[in-house]
Amino acid sequence: MQDPVPASASSFETYISSIEAKLARGEHEEVARYSKALIPNGRFRIFLKKLPTGPMKPSIEGFLGGLGIWEAETNGLVAFEPVPTARDAHIVLEFKDDLTYQGAPVAGHARWLLTQNGLSVRIQIRTKAPNGKPLSSGCIQQSVAHELGHVLGLDDGNDGVMSPVDIRNPRLKPSVAEVERVIRIRDRIRAITTEAIISR
Ligand SMILES: [Zn+2]
Repeated sequence: MQDPVPASASSFETYISSIEAKLARGEHEEVARYSKALIPNGRFRIFLKKLPTGPMKPSIEGFLGGLGIWEAETNGLVAFEPVPTARDAHIVLEFKDDLTYQGAPVAGHARWLLTQNGLSVRIQIRTKAPNGKPLSSGCIQQSVAHELGHVLGLDDGNDGVMSPVDIRNPRLKPSVAEVERVIRIRDRIRAITTEAIISR
């Protein structure tokens, strides 16, 4: 199962480009606020909005696994910290038995908003296969890690967690290339932040 690429992936590049354009125009304070919002000290606060119906264990395991694998694979460079309310969360994640986008079944979906007050992402994750069978914790783990990969700036790919979810063979962790790309994107944003601060 795929997820709808343009809704999440292209918007990240759009945000970085618009921040770079602001930097070129000398809007340094605004640039610093936006770029800090894109990588909030390496710790993203995530709120689990709605528990799925039916067997909850795979969803909870998949949720925690999807968060944890990014922290483990980046040696703690990025971390997703579950929080008890949506109020201060950067990311709100919701489980749905069934999930479609423009009429087609999808495994997950992320919707973005970046303002100078911070990052706001809404993620939806499917818990049942199109035939109604509950998805395994491994499938849900890949879906969660995949949508969080978009939050970290990754596009869809063909290896690691950014590949489409194969129900029989889910990818449980990001590839080396995916981890390297996340680190490169963070370095780029950090460089923008630094330039904005020293140019002030
Ligand atoms: Zn995707």
